[in-house]
Amino acid sequence: MKFSPPLVGGNPYEELVYNSRNNMKRIAIIGGGISGLAVLYYLKQRFADTVEITLFERQSRVGGTIHSVRLGDGLFESGPNGFLDHRGLILELIRELDLEDQLIDANPQAKHRYIQFNGRLYPVPMDPLTFITTPLLSPGAKCRLIAGLLKKDISPNQSIHQYVSKRFGPLVAEHLADPFISGIYAGDSRHLHMASTFPKMFALKKKKSGRMRMRSFKNGMGQLIQALYARYTPYIKTSAEITSLKTINADCIVCATPAYVAAQILSDTSADLSTALSQISYAPVAVAGVVLNQKAFKQQPQGFGYLILPKENKEVLGVLIESNVFAQRSPQGQVMIRVMLGGAHHPAIINDSEPQILAKALKELEATYGLKEKPLHAVVKMWPKAIPQYELNYPLLRQAIAHALAQTPHVYLCANYLDGISFHDCIHNAQSIAGSMAFP
Ligand SMILES: Cc1cc2nc3c(=O)[nH]c(=O)nc-3n(C[C@H](O)[C@H](O)[C@H](O)COP(=O)(O)OP(=O)(O)OC[C@H]3O[C@@H](n4cnc5c(N)ncnc54)[C@H](O)[C@@H]3O)c2cc1C
Repeated sequence: MKFSPPLVGGNPYEELVYNSRNNMKRIAIIGGGISGLAVLYYLKQRFADTVEITLFERQSRVGGTIHSVRLGDGLFESGPNGFLDHRGLILELIRELDLEDQLIDANPQAKHRYIQFNGRLYPVPMDPLTFITTPLLSPGAKCRLIAGLLKKDISPNQSIHQYVSKRFGPLVAEHLADPFISGIYAGDSRHLHMASTFPKMFALKKKKSGRMRMRSFKNGMGQLIQALYARYTPYIKTSAEITSLKTINADCIVCATPAYVAAQILSDTSADLSTALSQISYAPVAVAGVVLNQKAFKQQPQGFGYLILPKENKEVLGVLIESNVFAQRSPQGQVMIRVMLGGAHHPAIINDSEPQILAKALKELEATYGLKEKPLHAVVKMWPKAIPQYELNYPLLRQAIAHALAQTPHVYLCANYLDGISFHDCIHNAQSIAGSMAFP
């Protein structure tokens, strides 16, 4: 099915509508985050120039939530700071883009992660000794956790909090799962659906992932985005916001925008699809980046950083010591830190001004590490709809989306609100969509 562009006078998208110069099939990708760019990459791998492919991006730059910017002589990641290398797909993409020599590995000391409880930092119990000695769990809770390893018959069709409580005990849910979910997914473990948030854990055929390494690039995650952009510039239109499919003439459309945008774009194509997409909720995240002199701390920040128990009721979700993870992120003698605030527990963060957020971040650092000096540089990035939340109604929404998509065979969806939020998930999904695309 083809959409006829409304070539009427004054159509603001007129210049975006590419005319049929030949009989080539045409694919339009809407959204130039990693999902859209990866779809473009895999479609080009598959079709080369036998199909006309154009990517439309609303902003003047591509990358979406991936954005690496200079902060003083350091580098600030306003979105993801790295990815877990599963050794397969991403590495192939990186090799093919000739970026392998730009890869950097997380510092081994970054494996030391902490949880803040009653204002104090405790190591995450990852090895037998810390497990035995951690005050995060009572002796009874430790026994329940060990016993839970054998309980494999608990249904994942419930909230993460319920699942973990039933399997490993309520203290494990509160003191280990909750800070992890709040810090990594910006979510509330009582509202997120276990099987949907961790689909791979419950997949019938599990792939062996082996040991995963956290990695990034010398110039940050944005380096991969730049490499994709440089390769495909002629096929990418930036500052090109799409509001309806009526403005695009293509045989297939890949919508790689957030769900609430896709809901709007697809509203006159499929009301059912649009309704389901509009119900996917997002949590906000504010990221404060600060560069401090190494000597500015009374107590030197150690390891990867820390997550905070949601029951401490702090707006800060976690603190990442970026330059401990990737030394390249700040010059010698300086420390780059990112403080994450808000999430599903504190959605009102979006009403704060940048100075207010920075003040909250510095107050947290002062309380934990003691600050003797002001930061050398600071920046705040607000993501009002940062991370999609796979809530308890997600299985029903997912089913409704799949059903509606089956009725609109020329439309494909690829974004982090489907099948996983991580950078790796987005690339994986892009590959499978590009591979399965068929022209109606
Ligand atoms: C603060 C933060 C930290 C994170 N940390 C990590 C991490 O450490 N590791 C990890 O694996 N993942 C992390 N993630 C998750 C991961 O970064 C995202 O899930 C992923 O980058 C999302 O990519 P996407 O392309 O699906 O969506 P987006 O990045 O949101 O891209 C969507 C694109 O669509 C464009 N668009 C929107 N509307 C329109 C329109 N109407 N027309 C045209 N274009 C439009 C947008 O401008 C945007 O460029 C983090 C996310 C955040 C927010």
